[in-house]
Amino acid sequence: MLRISVTDRCNLRCGYCMPAGGVSFQPKDDLLTPQDLARISGFAHRLGVRYFKITGGEPTVRRDLIEIIQRLRALGSADLSMTSNGLQMPRMAASLKEAGIDRVTLSVDSLRPDRYRDITGGGRFELFEEGLEATAKVFGTVKLNVVVMRGVNDDEVADFAGLARDRDWTVRFIEFMPLGSSVLADGDPDQYLVTADEVTSSIEAVHGSLAPVEGSADPGVGPARLLAMPGGRGRIGLIHAMSRPFCETCNRLRLTSSGILRSCLFDGGEVDLVPILREKSHDSESKLDEALLEAFTQCTAMKPEVHASRGGRAMSSIGG
Ligand code: SAM
Ligand code: SF4
Repeated sequence: MLRISVTDRCNLRCGYCMPAGGVSFQPKDDLLTPQDLARISGFAHRLGVRYFKITGGEPTVRRDLIEIIQRLRALGSADLSMTSNGLQMPRMAASLKEAGIDRVTLSVDSLRPDRYRDITGGGRFELFEEGLEATAKVFGTVKLNVVVMRGVNDDEVADFAGLARDRDWTVRFIEFMPLGSSVLADGDPDQYLVTADEVTSSIEAVHGSLAPVEGSADPGVGPARLLAMPGGRGRIGLIHAMSRPFCETCNRLRLTSSGILRSCLFDGGEVDLVPILREKSHDSESKLDEALLEAFTQCTAMKPEVHASRGGRAMSSIGG
């Protein structure tokens, strides 16, 4: 799977994602263009990559997002999904689907408007709700990402799980990862970690025993362990990157919006693809493919056996 960050900018300021002490975004001129993204993704597709995830920052703040998606869709038999905070979905859901997005994951860490505002640095929960409604209507179903943080939102785990009881939605609980210098990563980030086992206990105390779901081969399930509630229509996903790292089965590479190919969310190795894209002699597809193959091979070889548990770059700049 290739996770493509199309921007490091965002219309929210989640404390666990954006760097503390102010954000300095990369200059717009440094962004990979839709053509660059199509060239890299085209190569990855020829290499056999079939899952592409568009992320950020917030992908919907990028003006040429629809063109980027159309270009990726033109690759053919690829699964194209996107992760978003949902705020722009009332305006964009239909055109995203039309352009070629297959599935959407929305992120939300509280169902309480005041808390949602605090976590996101000013976001309005009613706008998220409108985005959620539009997404579910246009795409038929939706996945929700919830980062569980002790003392912040861990008392809402069972409420979130309840959303997957009556609806055909997947609610995925993500362990907090200390990345970059985000507000929560400074000091003692371990205090915020709520493990997947603790999440399971909170859900079972209210909704009954969870049972494993056969579904790990479903498109885009990724690293989530999937579970079902008794009588529930949807699914619960657990992403236990901290308490039980899944590095040995990780098949993800990440492309930052400025063209850095990254082997790992934490401090894995990086390869800058920009010199390869700008090299004049790479204007033929075969020459470009040759150089990109070397870069992808180099990057894959830098994937750590087990991640470093702390990362130097905030999630917003890598692409979550
Ligand atoms: N803006 C979009 C969104 O919020 O979904 C896409 C980008 S965001 C970086 C992708 C995902 O990474 C979100 O679900 C977010 O909650 C998650 N994330 C960000 N920082 C994280 C951290 N430190 N630990 C765990 N998950 C994190
Ligand atoms: Fe923006 Fe998503 Fe990061 Fe929140 S998690 S600040 S919405 S990129």
